Amino acid sequence: MDKNRFDVIVVGGGIVGTTAAYFLARRGARIALVERDRIGHGTTARSFAWINASSKIADEPYHRLNALGASIYHDLADAFGAERLGLHRTGMLQCISRNDTAGLAALEEQVGYLGRYGYPHQVLDAQALSKLEPAVTFDDDATAIHAMSEDWLEAPEFVAFLADEIRAMGSLVLEGCATTTLDLNDDGSVSGLVTDQGTFTTTKVLIAAGHETPEVLAALTGYEAFAARFPMNRVPGLLVTTPPCQSAEQLRHVIYFDSPSDPFHIRPAGNGRLRMGADDTDGMIAEDTSPESIHRAAERLLGHARARLPGLIGDMTAEQCELAIGIRPYPHDGKTLAGALPGSQGLYLIATHSGITLAPALGQLMTTLIIEGTMPEALQPFALERLPGFA
Ligand SMILES: Cc1cc2nc3c(=O)[nH]c(=O)nc-3n(C[C@H](O)[C@H](O)[C@H](O)COP(=O)(O)OP(=O)(O)OC[C@H]3O[C@@H](n4cnc5c(N)ncnc54)[C@H](O)[C@@H]3O)c2cc1C
Repeated sequence: MDKNRFDVIVVGGGIVGTTAAYFLARRGARIALVERDRIGHGTTARSFAWINASSKIADEPYHRLNALGASIYHDLADAFGAERLGLHRTGMLQCISRNDTAGLAALEEQVGYLGRYGYPHQVLDAQALSKLEPAVTFDDDATAIHAMSEDWLEAPEFVAFLADEIRAMGSLVLEGCATTTLDLNDDGSVSGLVTDQGTFTTTKVLIAAGHETPEVLAALTGYEAFAARFPMNRVPGLLVTTPPCQSAEQLRHVIYFDSPSDPFHIRPAGNGRLRMGADDTDGMIAEDTSPESIHRAAERLLGHARARLPGLIGDMTAEQCELAIGIRPYPHDGKTLAGALPGSQGLYLIATHSGITLAPALGQLMTTLIIEGTMPEALQPFALERLPGFA
């Protein structure tokens, strides 16, 4: 057997590429997963990593895709144990004050959708919330969606676990390996991938390079326009993770506060730490934001958290916390891009926000497409052909 020949090569060892490589290997394909740096250390390591479908409601196929991702995590947990996967089955509380009339109307609409979709949830009042989360301050008129089946993930641990499984199935995981270009046959079909560690033979390449997808696509195909015109934005977000503290272990759920005055989300982060983020502080951040401005945004975020969890946040400062900026790969219409690259033979890609939630669903569905050659119905709304330039 030619040790440099693979059925499929996956470019990018974040959660999206690694999960796809895992499902491809499970179908019996010989895979090379090629990661330029280290597996699971891109956006995947700088994510709030809440596995959810309850907030994605207006577009039913997108809701169902997210719900499928969440349910595959449960299947994997049944097979391997949640702990080995880094999966934390805590449930999620999405809270608003009844005073906020627009927020209340939106929440009621969301509850209606969740009911129609048959998605597990219940509506709680302030008293029930305080029972579930005694260390958290809720408004007297608070109401919340409790999505009992939603989880959070230690995403780098999950990716490391899958990488071990991929190796155990006889496939290759290559770290510190940068891709250069594709080798093509005369008819334009893929015949190999050139990297700084040699040339690999394959007829199928799946690109899963996160927010760098446009540049990787341009470099591999030699079509520079991809870098400028690919329908995806880079959307930075700030995450604050507190140092370990015993009292922080009192927080049990992922909690979203949808209040107009102090919107933020928070969850346990393992070992007595808490991780938080917020839309308003994300709005204060750009990729070139100065350390001082990041610090200011982090203090603001801690202020939101202190108001709700005074006993857990106390007088903690931004200096004591880990501050991380993650870059979201954000397709122009906010949804996933997944499928074959139109006009190519043997080139596939996945680029998505919500990649922690979606990775298992996309990995399974793309495996069907790549191995069997048929586009699963659940993936069809996310094909690249829907966007200008690919139609
Ligand atoms: C602040 C924030 C909060 C978020 N919260 C959530 C959430 O709560 N729930 C959720 O589901 N999602 C969330 N997301 C989104 C989610 O984290 C991302 O969608 C997901 O991590 C993307 O994974 P990926 O594998 O596509 O990208 P990455 O993790 O960035 O992986 C891409 C990999 O490709 C590699 N690469 C790039 N170029 C090459 C090359 N030429 N050759 C080889 N390798 C290459 C990179 O080194 C990298 O490791 C959040 C994101 C952010 C930033």
